[in-house]
Amino acid sequence: MTREVDKRQFVCLLFWPAFPVCDKHSAMPELPEVEMVARHLRALIAGRTFIKAQLLRPGLAPETSPRQFAAWLKNARVEEVTRRGKHILAHLSNGRTWITHLRMTGRFVYGGLDLEPPPHTHAAFWMDNAQKLLFADQRHFGLMMVVGRGELENVAHLSKLAPEPFGAAFTASYLFETLKRSKQAIKLFLLDQTKVVGLGNIYAAEALHRARVNPQLPANKLSKPRTEILYREIVSVLNEAIEAGSTLETDPREVYGRYGDGAYEDSWRVYEREGLACLTCAAAIRRLAQGGRSTYFCPRCQRR
Ligand SMILES: [Zn+2]
Repeated sequence: MTREVDKRQFVCLLFWPAFPVCDKHSAMPELPEVEMVARHLRALIAGRTFIKAQLLRPGLAPETSPRQFAAWLKNARVEEVTRRGKHILAHLSNGRTWITHLRMTGRFVYGGLDLEPPPHTHAAFWMDNAQKLLFADQRHFGLMMVVGRGELENVAHLSKLAPEPFGAAFTASYLFETLKRSKQAIKLFLLDQTKVVGLGNIYAAEALHRARVNPQLPANKLSKPRTEILYREIVSVLNEAIEAGSTLETDPREVYGRYGDGAYEDSWRVYEREGLACLTCAAAIRRLAQGGRSTYFCPRCQRR
């Protein structure tokens, strides 16, 4: 079985056409999308045991060898699947935690044993219910780790993260205290996962618009009352996105389809709406570059 998959992977890399990614949006998974993937994954593999795991691209899990990766997952039962920031955590019966970061284009595909690996399949997992889980990643930025009992708190990517937006530690006072210590433009501040977890380019722009805050305002200049409004809008925009199924387009065959193509994009009020009328005041939405990425905002609603 190992050889067969290796051969397929070889064929995939050499001859298969590149996986067609939707270019309509340059969206990558943000917290709501990762939350959806974590929920799907929980429904599929929680309670199941890995019969076998195979790392097909060693760079996907640079901190372990493919042999070690396979050994750590083999015969481990998935006890729970959770999310921390944009990391998906599968807690295993052997005390280890299997961590996945989808980054830009990472996606899971699930199906029967005859499931054809899509191009750029970088890891494969055989479950005890005769189903197979594959991880495909066109851009090769995805990351996996397997960490031992007690090591989870020391994983650098996780220990530096700010409190979860839906957790008790993320409050308007926390946000205000953290904003006060930064002179950074507030849009860039919101993207920093060590300060606020969960906002990427889409939801940062949406939350600022809903709170009527100018994206270029220095973080420490936001008043307390306006911080309270921004806090509420951050939580509600993320909640609404999750409730609407995020921007994840799901396909019953692929399980987790393309990002940026799902239902929630219809709810965007500023993102990718340059030149269109603001839904609140009808002024034309503007776009500006901040930190090398586009920020969309309404010059009238978000004057200050
Ligand atoms: Zn407006």
